[in-house]
Amino acid sequence: MNIHFWGVRGSIPAPLTPQQIQAKIAAAVQKITPDDIKSNESREKFLASLPEWLNGTVGGNTPCVEVTSEKGDKLIFDAGTGIRVLGKLGQPASDLHHNILFSHFHWDHIQGLPFYDVIYNPKSSFDIYSPFEKMEDYLRQQMVAPYYPVTFDAFTKNITFHVIEPLEKIRIGEFSIQCVRMNHPGSSYSYAITENGFKFVYATDVELTQADFDKSSSKAVVFQDADILVLDSQYTVEEALRKENWGHSAFCYAIDFAVNWRIKKLYLFHHEPTYDDRKLNSILESARWYGEYITTDKVEVHLATEGLDIKL
Ligand SMILES: [Zn+2]
Ligand SMILES: [Zn+2]
Repeated sequence: MNIHFWGVRGSIPAPLTPQQIQAKIAAAVQKITPDDIKSNESREKFLASLPEWLNGTVGGNTPCVEVTSEKGDKLIFDAGTGIRVLGKLGQPASDLHHNILFSHFHWDHIQGLPFYDVIYNPKSSFDIYSPFEKMEDYLRQQMVAPYYPVTFDAFTKNITFHVIEPLEKIRIGEFSIQCVRMNHPGSSYSYAITENGFKFVYATDVELTQADFDKSSSKAVVFQDADILVLDSQYTVEEALRKENWGHSAFCYAIDFAVNWRIKKLYLFHHEPTYDDRKLNSILESARWYGEYITTDKVEVHLATEGLDIKL
């Protein structure tokens, strides 16, 4: 399967500010030596040598992750503002059939849907899944005056809603999928997706509790031995303590959780909107250090960044 991040920011879109862009340019210019600008080649080499947080950005769009099977089946997890970019730059399925699975219906996970071109095409069709019985109402209600000028009825007529039960095994094309309820205001659901023996887990908007580490619980079905886990790690520990019951986790707990469930690769996700690229990079470094400190088992830690493609 192929996994692509179209939106990784939590809570609200967070575009780069002019000051942040100026600071990046100033920091890059400070590093230049005359040799670096001698030729096109040396310029390219210099740019490639810059740290990722300086020569790129984690991205400001809210959650949207696309998973494509070997045979081309498409799953879209959440419809944050990242789904607008998916509509512009992504490759629609050849049969124009798509599946959207929602973790929950907080704004940052649905606000991109009215800006997703593909869903207005009368020839396209959608299956929409979640454990929330009223999901159709929730999506319709964000598209009413005075909040938005176009109603849900302007979308393709070929939309079918499917209410799924937690832990129920469903099949979509080549994928086998199960979800489990997690601790978050109003609840959220984490999804395990398997194809060809590989397991990917999408777990956003999760405030981890002790119960989530229980090996005899239903969490094992979804999390145990996943190859890749995308997990809410919005806060530092200090911030998580101040923001108890806000529904998000500290990156250290995300590492503890990944080690507990023998996860191979962890992608930190749902980044705090007030953290800039430099801060997120320092969180990544601390997370890697913490991972090495607490265990000899290998857990690879990465930042989920907009535009990143992972093959599994
Ligand atoms: Zn969220
Ligand atoms: Zn939420």
